[in-house]
Amino acid sequence: MRGSRGKHLVLVGGGHAHMTTLKRLDTFVKNGYRVTVIGPSPYHYYSGMGPGVLSGIYRPQEVRFHVKKMVEDRGGSFVLGSVVRVDPENRRLSLSSGEEIPYDASSFNVGSHVPLDPLPEAENVFTVKPIENLLKAQKMILNFIRSGKPKLVVVGGGPSGLEITGNIWRLVQNHGSEAQISLLAGPKLLSNFPEKVRRLAMESLAARGLEVVEGVHVSQIESGGAVLEDGREYRYDLALLAWGIKPSELFLQSGLPTGEDGGLLVNEHLQSVNYPELFGGGDCINFRGHPLNKVGVHAVRQNPILYHNLLATLGGGKLQIFKPNDTYLLLFNLGDGKAIYWRKDRVWAGGLAFVFKNYLDKKFMRKFQVSGELSEQ
Ligand SMILES: Cc1cc2nc3c(=O)[nH]c(=O)nc-3n(C[C@H](O)[C@H](O)[C@H](O)COP(=O)(O)OP(=O)(O)OC[C@H]3O[C@@H](n4cnc5c(N)ncnc54)[C@H](O)[C@@H]3O)c2cc1C
Repeated sequence: MRGSRGKHLVLVGGGHAHMTTLKRLDTFVKNGYRVTVIGPSPYHYYSGMGPGVLSGIYRPQEVRFHVKKMVEDRGGSFVLGSVVRVDPENRRLSLSSGEEIPYDASSFNVGSHVPLDPLPEAENVFTVKPIENLLKAQKMILNFIRSGKPKLVVVGGGPSGLEITGNIWRLVQNHGSEAQISLLAGPKLLSNFPEKVRRLAMESLAARGLEVVEGVHVSQIESGGAVLEDGREYRYDLALLAWGIKPSELFLQSGLPTGEDGGLLVNEHLQSVNYPELFGGGDCINFRGHPLNKVGVHAVRQNPILYHNLLATLGGGKLQIFKPNDTYLLLFNLGDGKAIYWRKDRVWAGGLAFVFKNYLDKKFMRKFQVSGELSEQ
């Protein structure tokens, strides 16, 4: 690495794991480093509150970070764009615009996406990531319910499928309208969770007349309908796809060492196993020897380690170790003012669980919404 002063740190993606580094970017600048942050939008949306944005519980301003402003206010540069290739030998990043950006150290927090295989060439079909899609879907659902009783389908029986279904219901209710809402849950709703979580979710959806279809596998998404594996067709006016997520393909495409899922393979310092000047956090990494579930909790916990290790790498200091912890709390927003609480063997549901979720989510937002987000129009 070049002499300490003037080194260039590039953060790719202003996601959940980079929040501390973004908030303390001025420390890097004061140390004489140049910092550039690259992202496809000036904003980063907090996924934990995404379903609540869809239903209208939250305004978009309440659930996003103005990453561009955060960076520029602290003396860094923000480049609007997407990184499509990393050249680790020459330490250069290529953007989709064709621009090339050199780095001395770089950290990736480019997240995950809903894999589009089968590839839907369909109208009125949205993936649940990026979270901005939920705003587009909301607008379209509002158009549909103004003129009739649309058929709205969510594909995917994981936590986001559950939350999205419950929150579509809330959106429709809030507008005094009607819709036929179905969740195509794959083999089984919440199959990776304890039976009690599953039961509470089923009861909540059934009590509101929301259809849950289990034992189905969608093999194709088309305009107006999903084709199931057994050949049946399931018609809809709008579909939201929540059938799982995969890390960004950036690392595989760049020939970097990856884990089985294609995530950047990192060691206990959240550092690429081959390139010590590359780091990563959140859904886009594969933690060597201990792959982590794709939940925001891990990204949040990685924040202080990434911040410390990036400073240490630039300045020649000692790196800290990230200790993965598979025990965490999940709270599912059911859209009816209630949530399901799940942590190890503790499972319960109710209004209080939603109050708690809302409190924790807003606390996280307050910590990193330092760029006047709430007063934006
Ligand atoms: C609807 C929904 C609800 C969820 N609720 C919860 C919850 O309550 N609790 C929980 O723990 N987890 C939840 N999750 C899981 C959670 O979304 C992920 O674990 C979390 O988003 C991971 O954060 P991340 O910062 O790694 O990735 P992301 O949130 O995906 O952020 C990645 C960032 O990188 C940017 N980016 C992407 N590609 C590029 C590129 N090529 N170049 C530059 N920038 C790029 C993106 O614009 C984005 O800002 C939920 C997921 C969904 C879909």
